[in-house]
Formats: sequence, C-alpha cells, structure tokens
Amino acid sequence: MRSHYCGELNLSHDGQEVTLCGWVHRRRDHGGVIFLDLRDREGIAQVVFDPDTEEAFALADKSRSEYVLKVTGRVRPRPEGTVNTNMGTGEIEVLGKQLEILNSAQTPPFPLDEYSDVGEDVRLRHRYIDLRRPEMQEKLVLRSKITRAVRNYMDAHGFLDIETPVLTRATPEGARDYLVPSRTHAGSFFALPQSPQLFKQLLMVSGFDRYYQIVKCFRDEDLRADRQPEFTQIDIETSFMEEEQIMGLTEGLVKKLLKDIKGVDLGEFPQMSYEEAMRRYGSDKPDLRIPLELVDVADLMASIEFKVFKGPAEDPKGRVAALKVTGGAELSRKQIDEYTKFVSIYGAKGLAWIKVNAIENGANGLQSPIIKFLGEDVTMQIMERVGAQNGDIVFFGADKEKVVNEALGALRCKLGADLNLFTREWAPLWVVNFPMFEEDDKGNLTALHHPFTAPTCTPDELMANPATALSRAYDMVLNGYEVGGGSVRIHEETMQQTVFRVLNIDEEEQREKFGFLLDALKYGAPPHGGLAFGLDRLVMLMCGTDNIREVIAFPKTQSAACLLTQAPGTVDANQLRDLNLRIRRDPASAVSH
Ligand code: ASP
Repeated sequence: MRSHYCGELNLSHDGQEVTLCGWVHRRRDHGGVIFLDLRDREGIAQVVFDPDTEEAFALADKSRSEYVLKVTGRVRPRPEGTVNTNMGTGEIEVLGKQLEILNSAQTPPFPLDEYSDVGEDVRLRHRYIDLRRPEMQEKLVLRSKITRAVRNYMDAHGFLDIETPVLTRATPEGARDYLVPSRTHAGSFFALPQSPQLFKQLLMVSGFDRYYQIVKCFRDEDLRADRQPEFTQIDIETSFMEEEQIMGLTEGLVKKLLKDIKGVDLGEFPQMSYEEAMRRYGSDKPDLRIPLELVDVADLMASIEFKVFKGPAEDPKGRVAALKVTGGAELSRKQIDEYTKFVSIYGAKGLAWIKVNAIENGANGLQSPIIKFLGEDVTMQIMERVGAQNGDIVFFGADKEKVVNEALGALRCKLGADLNLFTREWAPLWVVNFPMFEEDDKGNLTALHHPFTAPTCTPDELMANPATALSRAYDMVLNGYEVGGGSVRIHEETMQQTVFRVLNIDEEEQREKFGFLLDALKYGAPPHGGLAFGLDRLVMLMCGTDNIREVIAFPKTQSAACLLTQAPGTVDANQLRDLNLRIRRDPASAVSH
C-alpha cells in the first residue's frame, strides 16, 4: 500500500508523490488547514490538508488519534520558520491529496505522549498500544539489530544454530522449574528448560563443535527488576577450546556489538578473581564504574570490647569492613537513616558511620556515635587504613561475611548512583576462579554455577576438599550486571559422578535424573565448554534502561503474570481430567495437611 515509511522522508524527496500508511499521532486544526502527524515504526511525518482538496480535507477532519490512514500527497519543504529540528522529518511536510481511513480507533486508554502518567500496569494491559510509542519501537528495533549482529558474528565464526527441546527434563541452574503435565503419561511432567545446558553438551558429544542458539529459558524464581521468568539467552558451546579461547571469542562478540551498534570501544576486559571481587566490592558482579571499595578492618578489633564489631571480627565466618565515601560527610541524618533501612533489606542489623570533618585534629575532628566504643587509637588506625580525608564518611558492616558483602556491596552501588560517582560509562570485566560450591542456609553444599562445571582439580582432590575447590567458570560483567556466564564442563563420567556425590545426589538419583548424561560421557565426549549471555540484560544495558520489561515486547509482571492475556489462567474441568490433575480446593490449607 505504501511507497515510503513516514520516518524516512527528508528533503531528498522534495517534489515526489508518496503514499504513507500509519497512525494519527496528533491532529491540529489551524483555522482552515488541518495538520495530521502520521506515525509508523520509522517515525512521524507531518501531513497538511487544505480545503481545496475537499474530499481528503473532510476525511482529515473526521480523523482522530490512532486512526489508521493511507495518505497520498506531495513532499515539500516546510515554510521558513516552521522547520522542526527535533524531528527527523522536520524539514519537510507532505501536502495531502488523497486520504483513506483504513480503520477508526476508540480513544486510546492513555495518550501515547502521556504514558508516564499512567501506571506500568495500564501500559502492560494495553501493550500493543504502548509499543506504538516511538521510544518503545526504538528499543525493539535495537534489540532486533543486536540479534542480527549476534547471528552474523556467530556465523562468521563457524557456529551452527541448532534448536533444542522446550518440553524436557529438569536442567538445574539453581531455580525452580516450570512444569508441564503430560497427558499421555499420567502423573508425569515435563520441565521447561532453565537453560539448554545438557542438550548443548550432548551436541558436543555428537560432534557439532560450535553451537549457538538464541533461545528462551524459564526459571520460576522471585523476580527482580532485571529478571523475567521467561527470558532469552544467547547460548554458546564449543569443543576443543580452553577457557581463554572461549572468553576471547565471547568478549569479541560483546565488543563488536558495542562498537557497531553504540560506537563504543570497550577495550580489553580485565580479569578479577571471585575472591578479590568479593573482598574489594562485596559482589561477584562488581560495578567498576564506581570508585568505592570495601576495606577489611577486623584485625584492628582485637583489643576492643564493642561486641557489635568484636563478635564478627572473631567469627571465622564473619567480616568487618569499612566503606569510605568521598564527599559523604554532607549526608544528612535522615539520609543516613534511609541507607540504614536500605542495608537492612540485606540482613544488616545497623549501619555504623564516622564523618570526617577535620582529620588534622585526630579523633576530635571526627563525628560518630561509635568512636566511644572503638576508642581513639583504633578509630585513627581505621581512618589511616581507608585513607580518610576531610569531607568523607566511612560506613561499616559487621556481621556474617555474606551479610556484610551483600549489604555493603549493594550500598556501594546505591551510593555510587545517588551521589553520581560514576567515573566512566562502560565497565566490563571477567570474574574468574569461582569456588565450585557454596554453602546454603542449611550448611549443604550447592553448585555455584551448575553441577556440570569442571573443577580445577582431580576427582579425589575434589572429594577431599570440596569447600575450597575452584571451578573453571567465568562470568562476564558489564556495569554491575552479570551479562554472561559459562565454564569449561566436565567431560568424564567419574568427575561428573564425584560432583553429584558432593552435592548429595546418590547413585539412584543420578541415574534417574542424569542417566542420559552419564551414559553420553561414556561414549567419547570431547573436552568442551561454553557460555550463555542474557540477551535481555544486554539489550537493557545498551538501551540505557534498568528495567528489563522495557526491552521485551510482552513481558511478565513482578508476580510473573501477563496482564495483557491474563495468563496464567484457569482451565476447564475436562482439560484437567485429560491431564489426570485435580485442583485442591483450598491450596493454602491443603499444604499444611
Ligand atoms: N547454562 C548456563 C546458564 O544458563 C550458562 C553456561 O554455563 O553456558 O547460566
């Protein structure tokens, strides 16, 4: 129907007759002349109708916001003084000759320009309208550009795009599974893949030594702003490559995306051990744009009686750390109270602080409720260790190591954002030398990545010292987000069984859940490894937003529901019967029986 997109018109089309199809973005009646801003996915063009073209004028007069029109007219430069430099097509307009109303529209639930006045739930309920907004269109266009560039890169490096099943067995990545009941096998369930991990490993056993897939994954976990229950991975696996090669290849992909799409040169990614990242930043995905660091001070607490600090200082699983914030002495009592509330989300019981007003006066130049408990000597030693200067504030965390890391790690990022301490726009890095396992709340070991990650030691060494074993995993971090994670995998049955044993998965359960993998490892499995990127997160960062829903056409809410389709929904009794399922009438009380 159309000859051009609205958004592509410019002075080079001067004098041409064009036919446009799109939506009425805005309609203005300027006493005898009607202006319609017509919008399509490429942008907006101004179309002018004057009463001489009677029929078209009458239809333009009838048109309302979001009507769908087909307009034919001639492109001409805008009269002097009316050029709009904010608009891609701002130097031209189209003099409308013919107009066809392809469809009318009810008044939309919110005017596109005033989307921010309505809640996100209204936008999600009418997502097809929300997606008409130019900003949303730009984000999805960028997303498509990124996936195209990914495919080109992977193709150029000899990777094959191979699909893996969606109805499958559990693929543990540390989350809950989404389950699908089987009709043909009463009482049995498929799991939706948390990742294609095991299938991509099996493809390596089959000899497809370079695999990739842009693929949906499903994880039923509590959602945060940067998570979705179904999300997209760029999933990659290779055979006969060591970690440095895999990291080089995947680093190359991200560099190329940033260079080609954003014009950003990321440079070579630094590497940092997990241990160093946790010690200096309290996080395994440190945001290196923020120049704040945690400094350990437990050793200085030996002589004091102050239990809040002394207890964790003497606890082998405890940590006492300081976080110096340049210029933070200006924070008000109220702001400090808010940060105290903030760290309590992470389990911190308080947030001690010292303001540095005049360090040249020793402890007298400091302001703090805790100096009297620490004593002047210890206080000044701490000030020296963190390099405190006038105008700084020093915050403290003293608790179990996990609590201190999470609380001060998050506080560091929050202060970085609140006080705008960012030193640069992009900060990539690799985090390496992860432990194989971590302890859960009950003291059991769980896989830090997933149970198919290779350790750096032999099976015997692993069995002897699982808690201190390191893995051959690597995470790619960009601006404080884990954008990719991967590892060299286990490709020998004995090692795989050892890991299962450490995880308390006995032989029967191993056979039941992972028999197919253990069998495959017996039949000539090559050394292999890979990585998966979170595509949504990558797009989110490249779009400059911190809300993952902004870069997904039809996202779920924080409670994992789709407001547009009202999913999940109930099903009728026949469907349940087919699936051999019965719904408990009162799920809450049923659980306690
Ligand atoms: N399957 C892993 C994940 O989804 C990534 C990988 O190890 O390749 O996190």
